[in-house]
Amino acid sequence: MSSSPTNVARRWARTGLVAFVALIAAAGLAACAPSDPEPPELDTEAAPAPLPEEPAEESVEEPAPAPLDGRLIAIDPGHNGGNFDAPDEIAREVDAGPETKRCNTVGAVADDGYRESRFNIELARRLRAMLEARGAEVVMTREDDDGVGPCIDERGTFGQDTGADLMISIHADGAAEDGHGFHVIRPGGWEGQSEEVVERSSRLATQVRDHLVNYGLTPSNYVGEDGIHVRSDLGTLNLSEVPAVLLEAGNMHNDDDLAMLRSNEGQDALGAALADAIEHYLDG
Ligand SMILES: [Zn+2]
Repeated sequence: MSSSPTNVARRWARTGLVAFVALIAAAGLAACAPSDPEPPELDTEAAPAPLPEEPAEESVEEPAPAPLDGRLIAIDPGHNGGNFDAPDEIAREVDAGPETKRCNTVGAVADDGYRESRFNIELARRLRAMLEARGAEVVMTREDDDGVGPCIDERGTFGQDTGADLMISIHADGAAEDGHGFHVIRPGGWEGQSEEVVERSSRLATQVRDHLVNYGLTPSNYVGEDGIHVRSDLGTLNLSEVPAVLLEAGNMHNDDDLAMLRSNEGQDALGAALADAIEHYLDG
């Protein structure tokens, strides 16, 4: 028997036509007899194309809450630009936890004169904008780079004094020039600090380290372990009753680190990594 393409096509067309007519008839019957317990199955592939979406209904829905809605984040930009002109004022001894320490220091300075205090406020402002865009409220221990202090005891209690969920202290290091990379300092604990705060600070430090690495930043090759350094001699961390970590974002005496620290791209990566870390920490 011949089964040329033409004949096959005709046969399929005929079969299809019969099926179509049967379908129409069945649908008509079903419509006429709504109580029919077993309506014929319709070919789902032949279902009509879906109607275009109606936008009006969607737009009245509440937008999803921002991820950091209701959160208060404390940022501590280390040092201050005015410290250079106030040596006596920053030299007085203040409470630092297990011991007293000097109120504040001037911080690191790059060979070309770029100051750590300046970097710290630049990154702090960038981080603040990123956190606010995610719905958080942000408080900072200083707003500009012209003043003196505050002292480390004030920075240390700033988290609980403002009711913040956590505190990030921002610094850059001034180490030997062949040292490079960031390190996150977390409190090691002492008798005046709760174990819970130490433990939660440790979790926060891990999040910060992991997210910095995600953004392509390199852990320090000269201090700490895998980008985390534990210290019990820093008033800023010792006096905190909220989870707190101190980021040394890079070494200002290393050319590659300095270029990263000063660049928009570097500061954007640092800020985004910190914002991600804060969000994940508070989520967990
Ligand atoms: Zn510093």
